[in-house]
Amino acid sequence: MTRIVIIGAGISGLATAFALEQAAQAQQREVQITVVEKESRCGGKIWSRNEEGYLCEWGPNGFLDNKPATLDLCAELDIDNTLLRSNDNARKRFIFSDNILHCLPENGPTFFSSKLLSWPGKLRLVAELAVAAKRGGRDETLAEFGRRRLGAEALDKLIAPMAGGIFAGDPETMSVKSCFPRIAQLEEQYGGLLKAMIKMARQKRRERKEGKQVASAAGPGGILTSFDDGIQQLTDGVVQNLKAKICSGISVDSIEYSEHYVLGLSDGSQLDADVVISAAPANALAEMVEKVSTEASALLSKIPYAAMNVVCFGYDRDQLGCDLNGFGYLIPRQEGCSVLGTLWDSSIFPHRAPEGKVLLRSMMGGATNPRAAGFTDDQVQVLVQADLARIMGIKVDPEFMRIFRHQHAIPQYVGGHANLVKQIRKELQDSPGLFLTGNAYDGIGLNDCVSNAKKTARQALDFIAQSE
Ligand SMILES: Cc1cc2nc3c(=O)[nH]c(=O)nc-3n(C[C@H](O)[C@H](O)[C@H](O)COP(=O)(O)OP(=O)(O)OC[C@H]3O[C@@H](n4cnc5c(N)ncnc54)[C@H](O)[C@@H]3O)c2cc1C
Repeated sequence: MTRIVIIGAGISGLATAFALEQAAQAQQREVQITVVEKESRCGGKIWSRNEEGYLCEWGPNGFLDNKPATLDLCAELDIDNTLLRSNDNARKRFIFSDNILHCLPENGPTFFSSKLLSWPGKLRLVAELAVAAKRGGRDETLAEFGRRRLGAEALDKLIAPMAGGIFAGDPETMSVKSCFPRIAQLEEQYGGLLKAMIKMARQKRRERKEGKQVASAAGPGGILTSFDDGIQQLTDGVVQNLKAKICSGISVDSIEYSEHYVLGLSDGSQLDADVVISAAPANALAEMVEKVSTEASALLSKIPYAAMNVVCFGYDRDQLGCDLNGFGYLIPRQEGCSVLGTLWDSSIFPHRAPEGKVLLRSMMGGATNPRAAGFTDDQVQVLVQADLARIMGIKVDPEFMRIFRHQHAIPQYVGGHANLVKQIRKELQDSPGLFLTGNAYDGIGLNDCVSNAKKTARQALDFIAQSE
């Protein structure tokens, strides 16, 4: 029987284990799967904590329904009947600029009437139609791409805050191809972003006329989706459906290979394996593979991580005196605020706060503000409250507060990332049966993690079949 060890029980490791079990069963192949997880709980970045009646998401608060990977997994787990789509009003997203919360324009007329961009900024953005497509060349940063196609103002007020909201990243260093492959692809395919939008809208209209099923009205972004008890129901669902042995509270310290793999564990024991799948962060894997390949180890440690503080504040709705009709807001760096943005969690999904209360979740830190990781809890609270007072006029103290710290929140796909990942995989080619998955390589969203997990499971089973 083939012994498979999966390192890490975040969504990537758990989804890989589940996909392996399903595929192995379909192929009537006997495998013995062990998942080793450093923490005492499974889920990795996913952790929905019910504290004093507030449902606080430690990390992600949902996945988008415009890609099939996570929805398919939910169907396979038979938990799709418990899915919860975000409220309709959560489609309203805001940007804080020039001391005003501007509703993010959703179409042409609202774009022109919005005061978020100046008239020169709007005209420059529209002039994107005339900007020639760039073919080939070196890996462009998001900032270079934004300035070239849409202009400096759109970069500062639209693109950079979005990059902060998704990646906690710095557009001056982020690789546009690795972080937003779809955007880079639209330029290649249609010659520009506005041209792509126009052509895709025409196509949708045509398909509608022909009576075809057309993607949701929420547009290319899709609808944020979770569960009544939070996104942790996803990882709990996988754990409940797994036959694999899960060893939690134990970390893998080292991996060695001769005829098979020998994993050194933190409790002093060893684990033998024919196939090893790492779903651990790249920096953790870098330490583990030193004896397998010093080159791969050095390359893995080149993938940087941004730290982040997630700050949950609960308030009495009556005391707040401001409207919370929407998803929340992002903040351009030029505004000089301490946080990247704030999500109005209790407006996005129901039952996130006790009756009569609201839950806000602010993100602080990221690649552009690494100092935030060293702030004390008191400093964090003071700074977040100052931002809430300036942006939303909230002057009262919260009745509830939790600060969650992520030292390694999100891997940063900086310029040359795709090449770096290629080199890492090449260096590990001499280690047959060692596979990498997880958010450090080919996408950080939950959909990316789940679809890459399935791909990795397929590759591992192909390897097993070929080794027979
Ligand atoms: C604050 C925040 C908000 C986010 N919001 C969203 C969102 O709304 N939507 C979305 O799609 N994505 C979001 N993301 C991104 C998404 O949550 C992550 O990319 C995804 O959860 C990563 O899953 P993973 O399994 O690849 O890694 P992880 O969840 O990091 O799991 C890796 C696991 O490996 C374990 N491990 C580490 N070292 C060892 C070792 N030596 N031995 C054994 N185990 C080890 C860790 O303990 C961990 O459990 C967010 C991320 C953060 C931080």
